[in-house]
Amino acid sequence: MRVTLLGATGSIGTSALEVISKNQDTLTLYAAACGSNVEGMLGIITRFHPQKVALASVEACQRLKAELKNLKGPLPEVLEGEKGICELAADPEGDYVIAAIVGAAGLKPVLAAADRGALIGLANKEALVMSGALFFERLHKGMAQVFPIDSEHSAIFQCLPEECQLNLGSCDLEKAGVHHILLTGSGGPFRTTPLEDLNKVSAKEALHHPIWSMGPKITIDSATMMNKGLEYIEARYLFNAREDQMEVIIHPQSVVHSMVSYKDGAILAQMGAPDMKTPIARALAYPKRILSNVEPLDFSSLGTLSFSKPDYKRYPCLKLAMEASRLGQAVTTALNAANEIAVGAFLKEQISYLGIYKVVAKVVEALDNLKAGSLEEILETDRKARDRALAILATGERF
Ligand code: NAD
Ligand code: MG
Repeated sequence: MRVTLLGATGSIGTSALEVISKNQDTLTLYAAACGSNVEGMLGIITRFHPQKVALASVEACQRLKAELKNLKGPLPEVLEGEKGICELAADPEGDYVIAAIVGAAGLKPVLAAADRGALIGLANKEALVMSGALFFERLHKGMAQVFPIDSEHSAIFQCLPEECQLNLGSCDLEKAGVHHILLTGSGGPFRTTPLEDLNKVSAKEALHHPIWSMGPKITIDSATMMNKGLEYIEARYLFNAREDQMEVIIHPQSVVHSMVSYKDGAILAQMGAPDMKTPIARALAYPKRILSNVEPLDFSSLGTLSFSKPDYKRYPCLKLAMEASRLGQAVTTALNAANEIAVGAFLKEQISYLGIYKVVAKVVEALDNLKAGSLEEILETDRKARDRALAILATGERF
């Protein structure tokens, strides 16, 4: 199978390349895309020889082309900008598209993959948070198929019966005997930090996740649990779950990746080492199993597994995202956009850790009459929310 890897130089992209290299008899890298990481892309070209590559930054494309002149052997075609990345996603030569671009930038490429009926491994949760209903409409129309890569959603997927796995977006949980979904989250690095000390948290501290090694944006989202909020929205779309069919639960060891509770009292959990190569391998090989280079859990040395309810005073972003989910697509799109701006500002030390919630909440409160029926409306809502967040940051008020 020929794989098109979007977000190839990132944390998920790198793990996906490891899975591909472990399964060279069945998987090859057909095409790769990233934002502006020329060095990372050069490394991928020399190791995996993709036929096509695309970079979002036109300036980085020029640099890559200059570097390629020094390489021998077959060279890839280089495509430029978001348009080039969408072209890669739409190219039918790539049987399977891994959507692992971070943030809203991944939306158009994933829709392009859906339109042409690709098999899609979805890591880019922000795309689904923005486009949920539209994504599944385009997926069904294009006769594409999606497999979740986000570890919790991969776990839920694995605990559901085939009738649900093959009907993501429109499956009937009740008919499948499901009582509810238990979405687990580690609680991040500040799970036990006294609440009054959270205002002193630095970006460096927040970037140090106790369990998972991930890209910077999702690592900050994991600390605030906005990540779990986005995953809650993602899960509701993927598994067509009502609010009363969802429960979020803190599980600091991240060994149970999520669970499904059935009406007969049985609860199925998917467990494993916290390593994204397992859900990537699951998504790529479904319904088969392939090597992922992840060691199985050693239960004799596991120790205690603990579970607790999330405290919304500690994680107000989680609550905000769950409320946004109730209010619908336009609000989740605005929430996601405002969060991207706020997390960016926190990483640049322009706002405090607690400021992330304040900025996002202000944006969501301030905007009304938002629409998100069509792609144009979604992009307009995304832009309005970003503009609003930037305007709030520019007031000089301290967040
Ligand atoms: P990352 O920051 O490590 O990598 C992001 C990738 O996207 C890079 O290849 C980067 O070049 C590319 N990119 C950035 N801006 C771009 C743009 N404008 N156009 C095209 N490409 C662009 O992020 P990550 O941790 O690998 O996460 C990727 C996605 O997967 C996110 O949506 C994240 O929520 C999701 N995810 C990640 C993990 C994880 O363990 N890292 C787990 C679950 C879900
Ligand atoms: Mg996750």
